Amino acid sequence: MREDAVSDGRPLRVAIVGAGPAGFYAAGALVRQDEIPVAIDMFDRLPTPYGLVRYGVAPDHQKIKLVIRVYEKTARDPRVRYFGNVDLGRDVSTADLKELYDQVVYAVGAATDRKLGIPGEELSGSYSATEFVAWYNAHPDFADHRFDFEPRSAVVVGVGNVAVDVIRILAKSREELAATDIADPALEALAASKVEEIHVLSRRGPVQAKFSAAELREVAGLENADVIVDPADLALDPLSEKELADDPAAQKNLEILHQLAERPAAGRTRRIHFHFLVSPVEIVGTEGRVTSVVIERNRLEPRSDGRLAARGTGEREVLEAGLVFRSIGYLGVPIAGIPFDRKRGVIPNLEGRVTNAEDAHVRPGEYVVGWAKRGPTGLIGTNKMDAVETVKHMLEDAKGIDRSAGEGAAAIAPLLSERGVRWVSFADWEVLDRLEQERGSAPGRPRVKFLRREEMLKALSRESG
Ligand code: NAP
Repeated sequence: MREDAVSDGRPLRVAIVGAGPAGFYAAGALVRQDEIPVAIDMFDRLPTPYGLVRYGVAPDHQKIKLVIRVYEKTARDPRVRYFGNVDLGRDVSTADLKELYDQVVYAVGAATDRKLGIPGEELSGSYSATEFVAWYNAHPDFADHRFDFEPRSAVVVGVGNVAVDVIRILAKSREELAATDIADPALEALAASKVEEIHVLSRRGPVQAKFSAAELREVAGLENADVIVDPADLALDPLSEKELADDPAAQKNLEILHQLAERPAAGRTRRIHFHFLVSPVEIVGTEGRVTSVVIERNRLEPRSDGRLAARGTGEREVLEAGLVFRSIGYLGVPIAGIPFDRKRGVIPNLEGRVTNAEDAHVRPGEYVVGWAKRGPTGLIGTNKMDAVETVKHMLEDAKGIDRSAGEGAAAIAPLLSERGVRWVSFADWEVLDRLEQERGSAPGRPRVKFLRREEMLKALSRESG
């Protein structure tokens, strides 16, 4: 049990909304400092903690998921409580949190996907990577989604690390996928997949690709797929040559792409074709289903900010494909009561202090971390530095808070009970975690994930009864 009172005033009460990496790094930075005593309540709308580490990181990247051990340590700290299955907006409002806590941190990520804005994007068979990734990772909101892997040919738009995750999951064999904690329905559907050709579209050149070399190497090493790169696509214009000279990451990527261009195909089951300097301009369908994608060749042009942008040349061709995965980045969504910068898809802020969208004034007591703060970029670890910056400002501001009175955070549990919210504590989550791992032990998998909230809550009542 944590103590809510200390001799020199009660602890600073902090609510963190969102229990993904950003939320946990913020909680971690708060419990590690000893300037100001803290009492932290973390909320997540899902019963399960860890956000994108559980529902975003690919199931064949179990090593990356080991970062959860760091978050577990924070969650088990007596100064931290976890309230899963509590939805900001439905179960508690921002006004409730501002009343009960001295400081509120929004760690709400970027929940949706960017749109291509081309005709045919909404056809059946055209999916966002966001929904595909959430589905294969057993995100409860996607339990009823269906993906059709009957078509022989798929297009993946975008060349970031998410696109590479999508490519691997589409390309891997049943045996490879069965060794992971991929959602059961996804395992079954992908095991029966007829996809043989995977066309990857990059609107700019190989130097501007966003994937990291480690991810590209994994694609190169796939047992089940040949990777096809046209050497002509690797010929660089002078401006890309210049960019390459200053970019060691791009140099590594290009080296791997050159090796792939020289590698003869080995007759593997699937083929991954990289296409550079092309954009999809229309997704074509028959009877509401995707049948092909019209692509246009691009050239690179410098913009005023120095970035090389893709410009269409008018030269078009048609790629036959029954599936499209749009992997062009995540996007934040507005939440009632919290300012939102529509252009950038983030909560407006000054180094983590939330500001009004209209006049940029700082809103006392409100903070932001992670993708909701800086947009959907960076690796998991990037959120750590980012949280440290926000927490530094929280501690500076906390010095001006009167911590001598108020019952505050103690009131949250009764409030939730009164509203009929069945929240999931960290101890509850540890039960679910154990059950998932037990379900996975016979088939030799890391875990078999629960697919639905109700399933999790039922399992918890069974265990406690
Ligand atoms: P990302 O890295 O921003 O990549 C988005 C891709 O979409 C880029 O290739 C971008 O091209 C392209 N794109 C954007 N708008 C487009 C349009 N209208 N038409 C065609 N292409 C378009 O985003 P992400 O892949 O979603 O990844 C998000 C973050 O998570 C990244 O920081 C990533 O590194 C990280 N992540 C890491 C891992 C890992 O380490 N294993 C795994 C997954 C994700 P332009 O460059 O031309 O804009």
